[in-house]
Amino acid sequence: MIDAILQDLVGRHREDYKRGQVATYIPELARVDPGHLGIAIAFQDGRIVTAGESEIPFAIESISKTVVLALALLDRGEAEVFRHMRQEPSGDAFNSIVKLQTGSAHVPSNPFINAGAILTTSLIAGGSPDEKFDRILRFMQRISESPGLDLDRETYLSEKATGHTNRALAWMMKSYGDIDGDVEDILDVYFRQCSIRVTASVLAKMGRFFAAGGVLSTGERVLTAREARIVVGLMATCGLYNGTGTYMVNVGVPTKSGVGGGLLAAYSGVGGIGTFSPALDEVGNSVAGQNMMREISEKLGLDILLPTVRKENLG
Ligand code: GLU
Repeated sequence: MIDAILQDLVGRHREDYKRGQVATYIPELARVDPGHLGIAIAFQDGRIVTAGESEIPFAIESISKTVVLALALLDRGEAEVFRHMRQEPSGDAFNSIVKLQTGSAHVPSNPFINAGAILTTSLIAGGSPDEKFDRILRFMQRISESPGLDLDRETYLSEKATGHTNRALAWMMKSYGDIDGDVEDILDVYFRQCSIRVTASVLAKMGRFFAAGGVLSTGERVLTAREARIVVGLMATCGLYNGTGTYMVNVGVPTKSGVGGGLLAAYSGVGGIGTFSPALDEVGNSVAGQNMMREISEKLGLDILLPTVRKENLG
């Protein structure tokens, strides 16, 4: 049943990309084929069902912020992570600098806007940028049960060459004393974490991990339930930039987007869904991905707002 649902979705949403634009701020994102469309669902019992281009690699971009937040919570604990950052939607663009100057206490609104994400990256343990990135990559491989994950070097070099707004955010936080350490080193790790290559299947497995409360499909617990709840709660409230409110009304499932065209959704107690379609709407979220998430949420009745689980469609 679920197999047929996914095939049907991919068939009907093939043309959605025409209503969006691929990200163009670096050539590596601009030259992606906008017609790619893939979806994968990873169930708690280990089963994975896919349709379309579920194995085509693309840059994880902002979806990495979920993984790095989880690792920062393990490295530093909740109190330290949220000492200089809040857990509230910002209502501003993902890379906005405004709240750093005018908001309460000058701190980032949440770990999923760029300012908060860079601050989170600054908290990752390790003696050098290489060691910090290596820890992030290995942690991502572990929680997505995808040992082959790696960096896309061209994307990383482009992110690094063009990321001046991120530099401005980081230096501003440095000037307020909110981040410790060498700013360029921290940004270097941030640019690399955004440039890891994933697929819709990998995102589905990552989503499954968070949906299971931080437990691998083997049953091994990696995060406490509280730590997983922080990540999933922030996905629900801040996961799609300033399009999160509309998305929650339409889909009702905690999700994180990235400008590479991916979406990662965590369906608590059921599993994870990953989608890939690179054409984005005006706030930076995948057009086809959002449409497919809306339909799958309706078909499976799993949204967190008014759940009416349709077990017959899960088999
Ligand atoms: N590398 C991008 C940035 O930091 C990520 C953007 C995104 O996916 O939202 O600006």
